[in-house]
Amino acid sequence: MLRSVILAASRSSRIERLVETAPFTRDVVRRFVAGTATDDALRATRQLVADGLAVSIDHLGEDTVTGEQAIAVRDAYLALLGRLAEAGLTPATEVSVKLSALGQRFDERLARDNVRAICAAAEAAGTTVTLDMEDHTTTDSTLDILTELRKDFPGTGAVLQAYLRRTEADCRDLATAGSRVRLCKGAYKEPESVAYQSTQEVDKSYVRCMNILLSGAGYPMLATHDPRLIAIAEDRSRWFDRGPDEFEFQMLYGVRPEEQARLAEAGHTLRVYLPYGTDWYGYLMRRLAERPANVAFFARALVSRG
Ligand SMILES: Cc1cc2nc3c(=O)[nH]c(=O)nc-3n(C[C@H](O)[C@H](O)[C@H](O)COP(=O)(O)OP(=O)(O)OC[C@H]3O[C@@H](n4cnc5c(N)ncnc54)[C@H](O)[C@@H]3O)c2cc1C
Repeated sequence: MLRSVILAASRSSRIERLVETAPFTRDVVRRFVAGTATDDALRATRQLVADGLAVSIDHLGEDTVTGEQAIAVRDAYLALLGRLAEAGLTPATEVSVKLSALGQRFDERLARDNVRAICAAAEAAGTTVTLDMEDHTTTDSTLDILTELRKDFPGTGAVLQAYLRRTEADCRDLATAGSRVRLCKGAYKEPESVAYQSTQEVDKSYVRCMNILLSGAGYPMLATHDPRLIAIAEDRSRWFDRGPDEFEFQMLYGVRPEEQARLAEAGHTLRVYLPYGTDWYGYLMRRLAERPANVAFFARALVSRG
């Protein structure tokens, strides 16, 4: 219920203005977002890499509505990749890209051209791109674009969401040699016709998908903070004889940092998804929707400033 309310708020421009201008917002944002500028992203990345973690940087922004905005997002990624290469932070750092930020919803051709330019820049910088997955209306288009990109940039990563009923089949299709696949639960409000609704069903689907990916020929990227799923993943990766360079764990910046360190110290590859940029509203609202404790943190910040 709370999740639905917050996800609905994430689409309201009135609430967006209210949250963005509230004095307490900065502290909350800072917990989950590296900062607004490329320099902030580089600073946080340097620290994470020094701590033995891998990184995927997301330039925040989604649902772009004009060609100019989409080109500006592309250019932000091109500049970021240049800076990462200069700083020697690749290949430990890759980038995550939302196709909706590159124009997917209003001009798919433009989005394809933009993401292709980002993949070429990533290759020149010695790293890779992962295509974030958004709501289910974009899944086919995103997987289509992935297939096309992989012809020239085989390292391009996919994301599959365990809450979608179709995902087991997609895992089977994508568990091929060299195929990088991030498996997450899924962060959008989806109808019952396409997505499991209960947490038990989503978790069971996650385990089935994880088994398909770990037993297949690809490179699974297990993105979750869920202690139970992480324990199962550690167990299954041993069962399927997967060494530390044959799969990885992924977690969001600011979420369970002690667990991130524990997994890295245990010899696993742990990649932190690190968002930065001014357009943090939709991202922050999805993080709040995932966990009531995050809402409490938000409310405490409000009270302490009030
Ligand atoms: C690296 C990464 C990339 C992602 N990319 C995408 C994407 O492209 N598309 C998409 O739809 N979604 C994406 N997501 C979001 C994902 O779909 C989930 O919404 C999000 O990860 C929450 O699910 P969870 O697996 O962490 O478990 P949840 O069901 O949120 O939580 C399960 C349990 O994990 C523990 N836990 C969770 N959060 C915390 C916390 N803050 N502190 C302490 N314990 C906690 C608690 O024990 C909790 O009960 C991504 C997530 C990650 C980690």
